[in-house]
Amino acid sequence: MKITQMHKQKDTVLSFEIFPPKKDDELKNIDATLDILCELNPDFISVTFGAGGSSNNNRTIELAKKIKYQYHVEPVVHLTCLSYDKKDIDEFSRILTSEGIENVLALRGDRNPDIPEKDEFHHASDLITYLKRKNDFGIAAACYPECHPESANRVEEMRHLRKKVDAGAEVLLSQLFFDNNYFYRFVEDCRIAGIDIPITPGIMPVINAKQIKRMVTMCGASLPERFQKIIYKYGDNKDALFDAGMSYALSQIIDLLANDVDSIHLYTMNNPIVARRICEGIRNII
Ligand code: FAD
Repeated sequence: MKITQMHKQKDTVLSFEIFPPKKDDELKNIDATLDILCELNPDFISVTFGAGGSSNNNRTIELAKKIKYQYHVEPVVHLTCLSYDKKDIDEFSRILTSEGIENVLALRGDRNPDIPEKDEFHHASDLITYLKRKNDFGIAAACYPECHPESANRVEEMRHLRKKVDAGAEVLLSQLFFDNNYFYRFVEDCRIAGIDIPITPGIMPVINAKQIKRMVTMCGASLPERFQKIIYKYGDNKDALFDAGMSYALSQIIDLLANDVDSIHLYTMNNPIVARRICEGIRNII
């Protein structure tokens, strides 16, 4: 089913994000993770894709196939473009189509000095235009409630986001954030800019202190004082931080749903216990 169809059919669309394991034997273990994730009945599971030059990208497709045919859950395949040319994208598209994959999250990918860029796709909007011209995928794109780190300001960011939507993005999945107010303001800005497609907040339950530092460095999400206090108080106590991180994420999700947000994308970090705890916490809500 196409991702837009899910939004038409469901009051609340719930999705999980996972990444393909790096080693072959871990790919076998992913079944234990998927057993739990799929029991939770997500509308789709998205599978991340390397920024380029990575043989792991074949595992993205393998994992997406497993999700679709073994677990009967709709996969969304992430696809980056900076380090690929049109021939590469044609080949990925051909494989995805022949495997019955219906949805793609079309991304530029992060710049990486170790991975050469191919100079054919410069922005996600280029990839979306190209995919739309030649294929029939449901297309999602990324968005950033606190601005993409390379954007000069919110106005510029909004203009570029508008290009992705005009090119054919049908749903936006957001970068993680810890302060819902950024998300509410962002959605309002999008609506003012005439972007009226579904915008799904991305929530990452933070369950260890190392993960927080890495995530914030990578994506620039700001840490509200309430969240910082939790890290300060429980950062050295693994079990306490797990409980506190889960409660924080749950309170974010409940606030979003109470404010009529109609979809949640959970960054599971391949930890099914996290997804299960979150789903238990909203069992009577969605
Ligand atoms: P773009 O939309 O191209 O935007 C990137 C920057 O360029 C922004 O500052 C934007 O304002 C600017 N820009 C856009 N269009 C134009 C234009 N026409 N002219 C000038 N400037 C422009 N990365 C991975 O490698 N693999 C993944 O699986 C992955 N999954 C992700 C999932 C989600 C939900 C999100 C939010 C991000 C994910 N990323 C992933 C990270 C993503 O690749 C990076 O954030 C990347 O730096 C930007 O990708 P984008 O598709 O948003 O790029």
